[in-house]
Amino acid sequence: MPVLVMKFGGTSVATLDRIRRAAKRVGREVANGYDVIVIVSAMSGETNKLVGYVGETSPLYDAREYDAVVSSGENVTAGLMALTLQEMDVPARSWQGWQVPVMTTSAHSAARIEEIPTDNIMAKFGEGMKVAVVAGFQGVSPEGRITTLGRGGSDTTAVAFAAAFDAVRCDIYTDVDGVYTTDPRIADQARKLDKIAFEEMLELASLGAKVLQTRSVELAMRYKVKLRVLSSFEEMSDEAGTLVCDEEEIMEQNAVAGVAYSRDEAKMTLISVADRPGIAAAIFGPLAEAGVNVDMIVQNISEEGRTDMTFSCPIDQVARAEKAMDEAKESGEINFREMVADTNVAKISIVGIGMRSHAGVAAKMFSTLRDEGINIKVITTSEIKVSVLVDRKYMELAVQSLHDAFELEKA
Ligand code: ASP
Ligand code: MG
Repeated sequence: MPVLVMKFGGTSVATLDRIRRAAKRVGREVANGYDVIVIVSAMSGETNKLVGYVGETSPLYDAREYDAVVSSGENVTAGLMALTLQEMDVPARSWQGWQVPVMTTSAHSAARIEEIPTDNIMAKFGEGMKVAVVAGFQGVSPEGRITTLGRGGSDTTAVAFAAAFDAVRCDIYTDVDGVYTTDPRIADQARKLDKIAFEEMLELASLGAKVLQTRSVELAMRYKVKLRVLSSFEEMSDEAGTLVCDEEEIMEQNAVAGVAYSRDEAKMTLISVADRPGIAAAIFGPLAEAGVNVDMIVQNISEEGRTDMTFSCPIDQVARAEKAMDEAKESGEINFREMVADTNVAKISIVGIGMRSHAGVAAKMFSTLRDEGINIKVITTSEIKVSVLVDRKYMELAVQSLHDAFELEKA
């Protein structure tokens, strides 16, 4: 039998009634002739609650016990989903990560899946079981301890199972009906995309679109897993949702597929650093060692041998960045006059594989922002994206005007 992976997010299993509705969808896919692997998240709000318990009990917690606690939400929904399916006369059983076993690294709370042996579950399918319900987000380390995969990790569990079992598709059921050209809460013109390329989805996910965990898209791209994002609250149909797929499968390609934003960025500037060979290494080496995720970098033209160096990083890493730079200054590795943090910025990005073949996309972005009177503070580009930092108060305006300028409301 062909294998289908179906993943249900927290809102889709938030109550017993919703679990029943999800189970009905699973039942229909079984009737369509699939052996189904169902990956479940915890009921919505549950993981946050568990994370809160851990923090209250032990501020400097042991990461292994954190994982033991926060992985438990998925155990509940896996068991309940299996019971619900059994009540509907669908042969099903639940599996916790360690039972499969989902083998991961020992990086607790951010583990990576290393291997998923298929023999246990395939043997059960061979005996007539129709649905394997697997607790998402969790695995087991080489030391035999329970691990978790980072917030949103059930998406990655689902894609990893689809790859391991060579599934026909991986359907991700969530509370939105697909991937949009931008956040509909900001631009009401936002349009649901029927298809989006892996590369575009990867950029959008890492630039702030929250529909899929970035890691899951990386995996899907690497193993060519057909991913579909769809709502568990709408009627089932073959065209529902958004298909994340190879770019070859997308016929028409706009230059820009979507606009992403993130309000979690900060801009840091080191004023008056000596411009000499090795200065970038002397700055960004210590930042990397301190675990600061630097994204954009600009070095100004130097005057009399001194220059300003600007970079962006997540807002919650500003303190860490400042500490690393102060230490580097004290040790004499670098020398700057002042360090300025601007935490009132937002990053706006346009993304599209069509940029590879369309000229003038960046220029159009810049003139659109100019026409709105929005000043650009930092720019970065890649083959398929252009990102700018702007004052946070212009975030909505920037997203809306770019969405209009690139006519993303039109297919
Ligand atoms: N329950 C976990 C979380 O909230 C994993 C997931 O739902 O994907 O992060
Ligand atoms: Mg999620």
